[in-house]
Amino acid sequence: MEPNSTAIIVGGSHSAAQLAPSLRQEGWQGRILIISDESFLPYHRPPLSKAYLAGEKDPESLLIRAAAFYEKANIEFMLDTRVDKIDRSAQLVTLSTGESLAYDKLALCTGSRVRKLPINGTELKGVHYLRNIADGNAIKADIKKESMAVIIGGGYIGLETAALLRKTGMQVTVLETMDRVLKRVTAPEVGAFYTRVHNEEGVVIKTGVIASKIIGAERAEAVVCNTGAQVDTDLVIVGIGIIPNTELAGDAGLKIDNGILVNEFAETDDPNIVAAGDCTNHPNQLLGRNIRLESVPNASEQAKSAAVSMCGNKKVYSTLPWFWSDQFDLKLQIAGLNQGYDQVIIRGDIHGSRSFVAWYLKEGQLIAADCVNRVKEFMIAKQALAGLKTIDTTKLADESVEPKELLI
Ligand SMILES: Cc1cc2nc3c(=O)[nH]c(=O)nc-3n(C[C@H](O)[C@H](O)[C@H](O)COP(=O)(O)OP(=O)(O)OC[C@H]3O[C@@H](n4cnc5c(N)ncnc54)[C@H](O)[C@@H]3O)c2cc1C
Repeated sequence: MEPNSTAIIVGGSHSAAQLAPSLRQEGWQGRILIISDESFLPYHRPPLSKAYLAGEKDPESLLIRAAAFYEKANIEFMLDTRVDKIDRSAQLVTLSTGESLAYDKLALCTGSRVRKLPINGTELKGVHYLRNIADGNAIKADIKKESMAVIIGGGYIGLETAALLRKTGMQVTVLETMDRVLKRVTAPEVGAFYTRVHNEEGVVIKTGVIASKIIGAERAEAVVCNTGAQVDTDLVIVGIGIIPNTELAGDAGLKIDNGILVNEFAETDDPNIVAAGDCTNHPNQLLGRNIRLESVPNASEQAKSAAVSMCGNKKVYSTLPWFWSDQFDLKLQIAGLNQGYDQVIIRGDIHGSRSFVAWYLKEGQLIAADCVNRVKEFMIAKQALAGLKTIDTTKLADESVEPKELLI
């Protein structure tokens, strides 16, 4: 790469925070500029629904890397600035400031945004979404012991915030449209487990309920459901999923299909543009299909391949998807993707304890594992799913067999 080449990275979060230093490691000598529409240097998003909301962390401690790190690596930032347009033939980006900047290589790390709830009342004070530090601060300001909170959406973000608010002493109700929580992502047994634990901790979960409006004078005072029932509240958090930010890429004529389409090297169909993180739809060789993931490990690992591609080399991105979720004393670690499973094997007492594994099989083959407070099994599941070891599926439920002995 020429020393006077310019790499521009759009978006300043997990993928950008990995991509920029990886570019330097790969030998990029020219300018590296991260353009982010947020006011902070890249920060860890997962604690927003965990320790940050609990008041256990300040914004400074969320930073993925300190300012001095970027200075030393000569990585520049433009904060509070959006990239509004890409002119691919001229290799220019137009910014919200009106300025245009030339690039030699462009990385799209535009991530995702919250899905908005299309009902009346979401504009009232006390109604929140949770995606960034500003959202976290606004929610924290509304947390008051013994006041009431309604969480709309029984997915991971909804349940994590429910657990957190309950721990602060609030009365918490979760409203879920489907007939159980976590329906999109776990087996019925696992959903039932989370319902039990939340109930034991004092969270009320109402399933099969659609929030049809939020009412109140200036602030949210109640959520009205399709059943006519009304749940009084002081605070509402909506967690109903995310939408990948693909418009910038799409307007520039890049291929979009549930994310910006990239190959195994994080390259788009433009040789000068890569993309990484939540915003991409990419092939995964281990799974043999295209996927779009919403996770930190994906953002960071794909960014490494994107950096290699920007430097003119090749590094296949094909790692095993994995995730985590913290609720109360439950540390859930998930290895693999369970879509298409036809059998679930439970290891441990899922009905009475707070520690178990749900192994997901398809045609007799392990495809994923939900491990709650089971670090050993999680490590084993990762090895087996990555194809590094073979697992004896006949012994998965047998607690008398040590986890490491499950591997053949
Ligand atoms: C509350 C919460 C809890 C989470 N918990 C977990 C967890 O426990 N485990 C896990 O693995 N993952 C978790 N995630 C998901 C994880 O945070 C995301 O997968 C990760 O942040 C994706 O990183 P990214 O860089 O691809 O995109 P994002 O983090 O979405 O960042 C993209 C950035 O680009 C900016 N941007 C977009 N378009 C433009 C533009 N045109 N110009 C300038 N800037 C732009 C956006 O504003 C944003 O700042 C959680 C997310 C949230 C919100």
